[in-house]
Amino acid sequence: MLRSKQNTETKNRTMSRDYGQCKLCLQGAKLQRSHLIPRAYYKLLRTPGADDPNPITADENVTRTSQDQMVQHLLCAACEDLLNKNGERWVLLNNYRLAGPSPLYQALKAAAAEPEYPSGTVYSSLAVPGVDIDKLVYFGASIFWRASVADWSMGGTSVPLIRLGRTYDEQFRRYLHCEAEFPCNAAIWVAVVRSEEPPPLVNFPVGEIKGEHHQHHFDIFGLSYMLYVGGSLPAEVTKFCAVRTAKPATEPLILLHAAGEQEDFRPLFLPGPPALVLWSGAVPRSSTA
Ligand SMILES: [Zn+2]
Repeated sequence: MLRSKQNTETKNRTMSRDYGQCKLCLQGAKLQRSHLIPRAYYKLLRTPGADDPNPITADENVTRTSQDQMVQHLLCAACEDLLNKNGERWVLLNNYRLAGPSPLYQALKAAAAEPEYPSGTVYSSLAVPGVDIDKLVYFGASIFWRASVADWSMGGTSVPLIRLGRTYDEQFRRYLHCEAEFPCNAAIWVAVVRSEEPPPLVNFPVGEIKGEHHQHHFDIFGLSYMLYVGGSLPAEVTKFCAVRTAKPATEPLILLHAAGEQEDFRPLFLPGPPALVLWSGAVPRSSTA
């Protein structure tokens, strides 16, 4: 009798921890263990056969190996599925996975860059077969939003990431929940690292204020994202936006950038150190810089 009561109490405690308001649909539901970045990437960051196969993790203060992941009860099952279907699944299939050049990189290499940009590294995503720009944009936006709407920690240590602010959190929530278009006072850049074997690393989202607007950035296995938000975004920002819009008509662009080199649009990226970096123990840090 006593044991049965204890079991019920334990079960209730577990249930109350798992149940809550889903951050995306705002409904009360059983919440899933939601990852900030797809779990599959943690697996790829492991080095089988190494004495310590775990990914190397570094922030401003500490570098160590760790099997900790950024995960918490955040979304209901339906919303997890929505994020998966609208972005994550496509990115996992087409982004770099350590097994040769990614389909995304190969698609760009086989296509012609836009002639109006002398760098030869700017592509119209609509003109590149095999690129689903809507899914790339959705995936990037979902990572920035997830980073912003919750406090994240890894291995019990809090990791300060980005804050989009209440207004943009809500606008991106509505976009990600398919209730609204991509926020009109935001621009997102999608860039593919110009390498058949990009550094297998994850730079978690960081941001800074840049004059009148905020800019945020993250990298994940050969993909780099920049997100700009603010009421008056400069033309040099909006012209590279990857969002497909009807009004005003813009050509969604995808960009190639060289890993670690200060060229093309890279100087516009954030100069400061990332909040947290994960990389594979198989790769010396110098070659991932
Ligand atoms: Zn939900």
